[in-house]
Amino acid sequence: MSTQTLSAPSGLVESVSGIDPRHDRQKLLDEARLRLEIEMEGVRFDKQAIALLSQSDEEIAAGIQPTVEGPDSGLQNAFWLDSGIHVGLRHHSRSPYTLDHRDGVLVLQVPEGESREVELIRRHRVLGRTLSTGERFEQIGSVNPEGGLRIAFSNECSLKDTNEDCKFCDFNHRARLTEGASVYLKSPRQVAETFALAREEGTANHLNLTGGFIPERRELEYYLDAAEEIRELTGLSHFRGTAVIGAPADLKMLEKYKESGFNSVSINLEIWDKDIFKAICPGKEKRTGGQAHWIAALEAAVEVFGRGFVKSNIVAGLEPKDSILEGVEYLASKGVNCLAGPFQPRVGTALEGHRSPETPWHWDLQLKVAQIQLKYGYTTDQIYNCAIPGRVAHDLFRIFAGEAVNGKLARWKYPVVA
Ligand code: SF4
Repeated sequence: MSTQTLSAPSGLVESVSGIDPRHDRQKLLDEARLRLEIEMEGVRFDKQAIALLSQSDEEIAAGIQPTVEGPDSGLQNAFWLDSGIHVGLRHHSRSPYTLDHRDGVLVLQVPEGESREVELIRRHRVLGRTLSTGERFEQIGSVNPEGGLRIAFSNECSLKDTNEDCKFCDFNHRARLTEGASVYLKSPRQVAETFALAREEGTANHLNLTGGFIPERRELEYYLDAAEEIRELTGLSHFRGTAVIGAPADLKMLEKYKESGFNSVSINLEIWDKDIFKAICPGKEKRTGGQAHWIAALEAAVEVFGRGFVKSNIVAGLEPKDSILEGVEYLASKGVNCLAGPFQPRVGTALEGHRSPETPWHWDLQLKVAQIQLKYGYTTDQIYNCAIPGRVAHDLFRIFAGEAVNGKLARWKYPVVA
């Protein structure tokens, strides 16, 4: 890990209150950077030993984390740093970071640094519960430590039929590898039951419902059916839920998602530079109106759902940083919370074997993304609203917003909506 001293973007340090002294802030920034480095590099660990440790407690864990070397459903996890920042756990046999356990305690070894205890986020008991249709909860969805439930209702993106998958995306590849382990197409009833079970167990106050690209009419119908089942099972007329959708051809359709009960949408643009977009996302370019239409859809969604209730993402590392920041800032100014998650080359994709920019490049980008979110006046609740789980930019936003107390961030959790 680099020992480079980091600083907050100019102007932000001065706004800190007395409960968040400068040195504590620097410590937290270092922790956020450690998270970024570990998530980029992966971690070396004995999978069986860590799996045993995680299974020994009923109060566990998170979604499947593809490993650096390929998808792996053998261990689903993440861990907390003492600072209140959590780190996604991806196995990589050549990582400089190692995890081990000593007398039941999980220990992280950082290169040229001291070893430290970390807390494994343990498997949650809800994952073992059974739906009325017989499937286990974990075959339908995954929960994360921040109270989010993620369900991919379909294991397929139809862009594979025309060989127009987005070049970085392993959605279809993973579906092939995990065939039989999860349900290929989940019914709206299964989605609703899973959400209701998670709410009953007090572990999911937010639903992120996603799937691969499917023709527009079927996509809308599916989300409307799922929302209807959720309303019926939970008794909620509206719920904290994000529909992850493609840009609809008819932008008026966005109103239907809102009326159905979802409080937010995520429309992932992936690339800001319009020419690179064409090359990286050929299916989105050809089948769904092209990039200009996706941007128009994001702006129209803000009209319907409100500022901060529309999310997008740019895959960071496939175009120049300035271009990404231009996109993040433009969208933020329009009310869209746009993240810039690091490009992580995945096995089975057109970009397998490529490299992402180095961590200092991503770190600088995340600092600037958080600064943009602050500049446009978003709240913590808004920036978490459509994102699961929170990313490094979320940690930075909270640090710069002065939320730390005694050098720690409170573990963030979606508030309960009655
Ligand atoms: S639309 Fe692109 S990013 Fe989305 S699932 Fe299909 S290939 Fe992946």
